[in-house]
Amino acid sequence: MQITEALDRCPTDLLVDGAWRTAADGRRIEVRDPATTEALASVASGQESDALAAVEAAERALPRWAATPPRERSAVLRRAYELMTERAEYFAVLISAENGKALADARAEVGYAAEFFRWYAEEAVRLAGTVQHAPAGGYRILVDRAPIGVAVLVTPWNYPAAMATRKMGPALAAGCSVVLKPASDTPLTALAVGALMAEAGAPAGVVNVVPADRSGAVVGAMLAHPAVRKLSFTGSTEVGRRLLHGAADRVLSTSMELGGNAPFLVLADADVDAAVRGAMLAKMRNGGEACTAANRFYVHASVADEFTSRFAAAMAALKVGPGLAAGTEVGPLVNADTRDKVVELVEDAVARGARVRTGGRAPERTGYFYEPTVLDGVAPGSALLTEEIFGPVAPIVRFEDEAEAVRLANATEYGLVSYVYTRDLRRGLAVSGALESGMVGLNRGLVSDPAAPFGGVKQSGLGREGGHEGILEYTEAKYIATDW
Ligand code: NAD
Repeated sequence: MQITEALDRCPTDLLVDGAWRTAADGRRIEVRDPATTEALASVASGQESDALAAVEAAERALPRWAATPPRERSAVLRRAYELMTERAEYFAVLISAENGKALADARAEVGYAAEFFRWYAEEAVRLAGTVQHAPAGGYRILVDRAPIGVAVLVTPWNYPAAMATRKMGPALAAGCSVVLKPASDTPLTALAVGALMAEAGAPAGVVNVVPADRSGAVVGAMLAHPAVRKLSFTGSTEVGRRLLHGAADRVLSTSMELGGNAPFLVLADADVDAAVRGAMLAKMRNGGEACTAANRFYVHASVADEFTSRFAAAMAALKVGPGLAAGTEVGPLVNADTRDKVVELVEDAVARGARVRTGGRAPERTGYFYEPTVLDGVAPGSALLTEEIFGPVAPIVRFEDEAEAVRLANATEYGLVSYVYTRDLRRGLAVSGALESGMVGLNRGLVSDPAAPFGGVKQSGLGREGGHEGILEYTEAKYIATDW
């Protein structure tokens, strides 16, 4: 599909109460193509009054949606899965255009995003409570699962479709109504998801989508509204922390999917071929712009030369170009700030003695490109090892002592995901247990799966998305002490 056709089909106004409307003050956000820096479209930028109208629409829609039989809610989600799958190319082109990622990555994202609708169509009809005898006898403890209420969903730009469906799927399955506030760099995909939900049969007000460039003020206004009971946020730890403070005022339930700084451990007995394949996936999926991206590589000295040279060769062979151009494997970064941060991190590491094995610079061309980069001998203290890189850069640190490698892997405030390569399953499980992260890829460079509980420990977040755990985040346990 041509980009012009996708843009023509995509809504650009706010979705509030089942209708498309412009912002109260007519304000708009310009959406730019990161490969050319040129404007693609302009999207209505919701103000506080628009966001509050969306919350009130969600509040009105809630009782009926919560009382809609689970089988019917499930059918809406199933139709959403089917429609997204049928229109995969439309969604992939939109994602690639506004985010910059290679079309192959965008197609993979659409598949992943649609799977959340399918999974939660299945979960909607499997939400069970419990009944037990009170230990002292005399009555029963009956625990039901009730929808939590109106949920505000705030999503980042790196997976514009999947981060929306990973929240919307379980919220709708549980019987909640939602207001989605997507990232300002990538609002088009979110609006297209909103239109798709209406077509799939979500009643007016159940799904509202309000892009807003004044995100702090607009989200803050929604969190202060008494109807809002839930905040589900995916984004940086810095903004997450701020939102947790805001949510505290009304003691809101929060789910927080925050930043990561994933260590990738290659133990002495690892299958080096498999480790390189896994490293390419863990580092380069989405061009490195993933919270799950391997951020630090700890490689045992006995396999470090072989691993590093093969990994650098694979990185050097990647084709960099505009996301929508044929053959592109790595697109541009999303914006100038993200690219500039990568430039600074690499310069700092090189100044501290790191050797550039491949890449190491932003090519001289229009767009926010950065070359796939492998750095060897990265010194402790380099900012690259403590901050989220969010770009195609792999710093390698050699180790001799496995316990020390695990200690270094854990020496971060983040704890989203870790990766371990070893041929010895017993050893791999022991190291997996010792790693302080919510998820571990053991001989795998990819952990994300709609059927699995995704989330972090420490400052990588609170709560889980996906799996059965994901739907529970949108419910409250309702205990009824029952005289039988
Ligand atoms: P971000 O924190 O800058 O923005 C995320 C969202 O919050 C956007 O919609 C943004 O408009 C909004 N926002 C920004 N400031 C706000 C404020 N003061 N109040 C309310 N909302 C505000 O993150 P980003 O740059 O869009 O995304 C990258 C970050 O997201 C990385 O740190 C990455 O690790 C993280 N991320 C985490 C996961 C996960 O599942 N753990 C998944 C994807 C991305």
